[in-house]
Amino acid sequence: MPRMEVLATPAAMRRWRHRVSGSVGFVPTMGYLHEGHMQLVRRSTGENLHTVVSIFVNPTQFAPGEDFERYPRDEVRDLELLRLAGVGAVYLPSAAEMYPPGYQTYVDVEKVTVPLEGASRPGHFRGVTTVVLKLLNAVQPQKAYFGRKDAQQLRVVKRMVLDLDLDCEIVPCDIVREPDGLAMSSRNVYLTLEQRAAAPVIRRALLEARGLYESGERDADRLRATALAVLAREPLGTVEYISLADDVTLEELSGAVRGPALLSTVVRFGATRLLDNVELG
Ligand code: AMP
Repeated sequence: MPRMEVLATPAAMRRWRHRVSGSVGFVPTMGYLHEGHMQLVRRSTGENLHTVVSIFVNPTQFAPGEDFERYPRDEVRDLELLRLAGVGAVYLPSAAEMYPPGYQTYVDVEKVTVPLEGASRPGHFRGVTTVVLKLLNAVQPQKAYFGRKDAQQLRVVKRMVLDLDLDCEIVPCDIVREPDGLAMSSRNVYLTLEQRAAAPVIRRALLEARGLYESGERDADRLRATALAVLAREPLGTVEYISLADDVTLEELSGAVRGPALLSTVVRFGATRLLDNVELG
């Protein structure tokens, strides 16, 4: 297996990119890798001659008071997993390289960033789109792989790629779950044993609503209420939002659900926000 390169600056990343020929697939991450990330990596290595994975805990997508400082990190383990997976290059820039003194340029995607995570985490998507554009510029992949777990992020990034004429295909990948249904997340390590045992209620709530949808229910309020009723039975979880929205625009639905829709939720266990969703129709 050829050596995996670890690249620490945008310039080093670009030099590597100019050296290789053939298709390049890209998987952006914040590290502390789990099977959800590795699924994206395997999809990329299967579809491209070269795969680049970035590990960058992006300060601009965290609001003050969020978990930027304590976000879990394990670079040694991450690099070993990526090496074994046959990744060609890991892009591991520092915050100082990404945002040097004088930095002042940001990408703002408008409507689709307003609800849900955008409402709960002001400035979050501005940080996400800015860093994703910077990463795409440095890596110049033909395809970039994103998880459906971060459903709004996926839609926001697709919108940016379309609006800014970026020459990159965004490939959505399914949510990877623990055996009990909890969506894998680097943040799951924050949970206490009790919280961890209770957290699969999120999946059960979404499946209950999806079951109702599949049996013919189309009333948006009743579908949201069904999921909420399941979540309400779990005292350790606090529902931050439950949303049934248009699958593309993420505008909240009222009345009858007529087209593809996204049912998504954030439930807080202590200080930990757990995000999950199912697509309907
Ligand atoms: P993160 O490191 O949390 O920023 O995630 C990096 C990428 O992995 C994003 O595209 C996420 O949507 C994706 N991802 C994270 N967790 C999962 C999961 N459980 N299943 C599928 N994709 C995931």
